[in-house]
Amino acid sequence: MANKWVYLFTEGDASMRNLLGGKGANLAEMTNIGLPVPQGFTITTEACTQYYEDGREINEEIQAQINEYIGKMEEITGKKFGDHENPLLVSVRSGARASMPGMMDTILNLGLNEEVVNVIAEKSGNARWAWDCYRRFIQMYSDVVMEVGKKYFETLIDEMKEKKGVKLDVELDADDLKELANQFKAEYKDKIGADFPDDPKEQLMGAIKAVFRSWDNPRANVYRRDNDIPYSWGTAVNVQSMAFGNMGDDCGTGVAFTRDPATGEKGLFGEFLTNAQGEDVVAGVRTPMHINEMADKFPEAFKQFNEVCKTLENHYRDMQDMEFTVEHGKLYMLQTRNGKRTAQAALKIACDLVDEGMRTPEEAVAMIDPRNLDTLLHPQFDAEALKKAEPLAKALAASPGAACGKIVFTAEDAKEWAARGEKVVLVRLETSPEDIEGMKAAQGILTVRGGMTSHAAVVARGMGTCCVSGCSDIAMDEENKKFVLAGKEFHEGDALSIDGSTGKIYDGIIPTVDATIAGEFGRIMGWADQYRRLKVRTNADTPADARKARELGAEGIGLCRTEHMFFEGNRIDAFREMICSETIEEREAALEKILPEQQGDFEKLYEALEGNPVCIRFLDPPLHEFVPTTEEDIKKLADAQGKSVETIKNIIASLHEFNPMMGHRGCRLAVTYPEIAKMQTKAVIRAAINVQKAHPDWTVEPEIMIPLVGDIKELKYVKNFVVETADAEIAAAGIELKYQVGTMIEIPRAALTADDIAKEAEFFCFGTNDLTQMTYGFSRDDAGKFLNAYYDAKIFENDPFAKLDQVGVGKLMKMAIELGKPVRPELHVGICGEHGGDPSSVEFCHKIGLDYVSCSPFRVPIARLAAAQAAIKNPRK
Ligand code: PEP
Ligand code: MG
Repeated sequence: MANKWVYLFTEGDASMRNLLGGKGANLAEMTNIGLPVPQGFTITTEACTQYYEDGREINEEIQAQINEYIGKMEEITGKKFGDHENPLLVSVRSGARASMPGMMDTILNLGLNEEVVNVIAEKSGNARWAWDCYRRFIQMYSDVVMEVGKKYFETLIDEMKEKKGVKLDVELDADDLKELANQFKAEYKDKIGADFPDDPKEQLMGAIKAVFRSWDNPRANVYRRDNDIPYSWGTAVNVQSMAFGNMGDDCGTGVAFTRDPATGEKGLFGEFLTNAQGEDVVAGVRTPMHINEMADKFPEAFKQFNEVCKTLENHYRDMQDMEFTVEHGKLYMLQTRNGKRTAQAALKIACDLVDEGMRTPEEAVAMIDPRNLDTLLHPQFDAEALKKAEPLAKALAASPGAACGKIVFTAEDAKEWAARGEKVVLVRLETSPEDIEGMKAAQGILTVRGGMTSHAAVVARGMGTCCVSGCSDIAMDEENKKFVLAGKEFHEGDALSIDGSTGKIYDGIIPTVDATIAGEFGRIMGWADQYRRLKVRTNADTPADARKARELGAEGIGLCRTEHMFFEGNRIDAFREMICSETIEEREAALEKILPEQQGDFEKLYEALEGNPVCIRFLDPPLHEFVPTTEEDIKKLADAQGKSVETIKNIIASLHEFNPMMGHRGCRLAVTYPEIAKMQTKAVIRAAINVQKAHPDWTVEPEIMIPLVGDIKELKYVKNFVVETADAEIAAAGIELKYQVGTMIEIPRAALTADDIAKEAEFFCFGTNDLTQMTYGFSRDDAGKFLNAYYDAKIFENDPFAKLDQVGVGKLMKMAIELGKPVRPELHVGICGEHGGDPSSVEFCHKIGLDYVSCSPFRVPIARLAAAQAAIKNPRK
């Protein structure tokens, strides 16, 4: 049997999301539950994949089915493509499995040509509307299907408005719009070299192709990478009979949420425009009115819409984001989906749904995207400073958070400035999908036009970036990169603060404070902790980081990179003396200076962790990272050691390595300079003894971690003198103290020989940064330079240094556990590479049986939630 590539809305349901995309599946579901949905059909995501397999062509079989379904749709609607009595007009929209708001393209009013325009003008008695539809269609088709570019058409509209002496599009009359349509067609012919297509079927095939093609456009690719959406999923295409919101003042269009997507507050939230088509609301070209004002304009439709909202929320048991149109007072539903929301709103909605009896705590935990939590963990404005600050203006609080930085006016500038470490606030008239990367680079986004559902607002909320939209008080001069607000002229580079939670805008920089876990956040985290099996530790090198991580729920330190402790104050001087020593005596003298400092640091870490595990890794990086580079520092070092500048320079030169990442680092340092590891052992053990004595009710059991081991003999060699030193310290103190010596598994050979390594190592911790580097043979410091080419060529969909390569690196991890555990059943295994805070990698760690993940302090809550979701998704058999 031939494949089925096309489904009527009456043939699908919500469970068919993979095949019909989210929008298609929900249109089918809404049809099934009897809501007013203009009918149509969905071309499947498989057809999209097939289109790419066929070299970006829609094959004959699929085309034939599309044509067959046009026939079915004509029967259902009683309208016909190109008909002179009752012409069928359709919208064509993309709809992937996971919603990608604003990422792909839409075409409305398809099926129009000059004859059909005359028919609908006459039948409706509304020539203005008919020509408005046609000029919009030409504009969208030219832009989306033929990629002519919007700006030519916008210029023509502006010229027309100027000629007629009007300000708004709605002030143009039928003749103006007709003239515009003709100008648009001429522009099309000029750019494309052919006439604008009149045949609706030809128009439709072109539009479907364009939607398939848009799956591979740069902004969709960036969005997918940011949101973990595989390229292989493809997008479906929905062809739906048009409902018209632009037929006059008894028509309109709107977008609404069943709860506030910024705060999560229950209640209808949205916007509405009379006499307009869908894109007008989202594009932010006109600032729309609040949804509740619809009650006065269209009481019947508003009442019905409220009912629909309740039905949909109860049906999906989640906050819904809906698009609808009112045509001559009658309501039509065009879309529903689980609404995108801020992290704050996600937590509130999940808790409220539990309290309302709609969801279980387990479902509530599973509903929240852990990556979203990130935004809640970032600083907020200091409440005291905020009270004192006088806002310049107040606009829409479109996406919460605090942002301050230097003003930039273009997305390119935002990207460029951010790349050189500047914090920027992107200020624009309105944003469009091309701005996405600049929006991502900015601390916050401020727009002059557009409402809560404008592109800027929707996209910023999705990204978790602070956004204030629709600040019409700003007199903007984008071209000259300046604006006036509250009587003051602002230029590129001036400081500005915006509060996405209140919509207020402030002159200058307002100080910020750290976030805390409380309220709904705490409630969800509490539930998450009940479900997870993985422990969550943190990578922390300072007591302050460790305390922060504890506040955020860390259950131990999984990695303390001791080298980071050497940069503070004048410690670096002693460390440099140690590196530039020429004899053991010299080195030991320098180490003597360092020992008390290290011991003090470790004591503070143990104190901060209150008896929870602390894993301290011995010196790891290549030594040349620490040597002085300025003449002044070289001279200082020479003087301290009583050596000549020349000698120091020679020592520094001798430390140069061609490939330092594979050079003299990790346990190789301990092999060449055992005195360094011995000093670190003393510091760890002495600190532990002191803290244990001070807190007899705690169990202080240090974990000493030897990095970059590839051969059992390396570990054995280093472990021997570490144990000897530790035991001597403990004996001298005359107390009982247990400690463990383990290793990082970060060299492929260690994973391959993990059964041997486990004979000596009391624990394993996967250093997946190095393990990725060495498994792929990609330098972790240089990969950024070529990974973009890999994304473009679809070789990689993600950065393997951020999201674990489960196939290759993951196989080594699995192998190491399977080899190690039988040799030492009590072996505990963790991960402390960057992947320990990445949700999909955390799930993998759960599945292969790790004991804990360790990540930076601010990612601890993300890992806690991801670990809970992994346990919920993969229950123990
Ligand atoms: C690792 O390699 O994954 C690791 C945690 O160590 P570092 O990043 O310090 O090399
Ligand atoms: Mg490493």
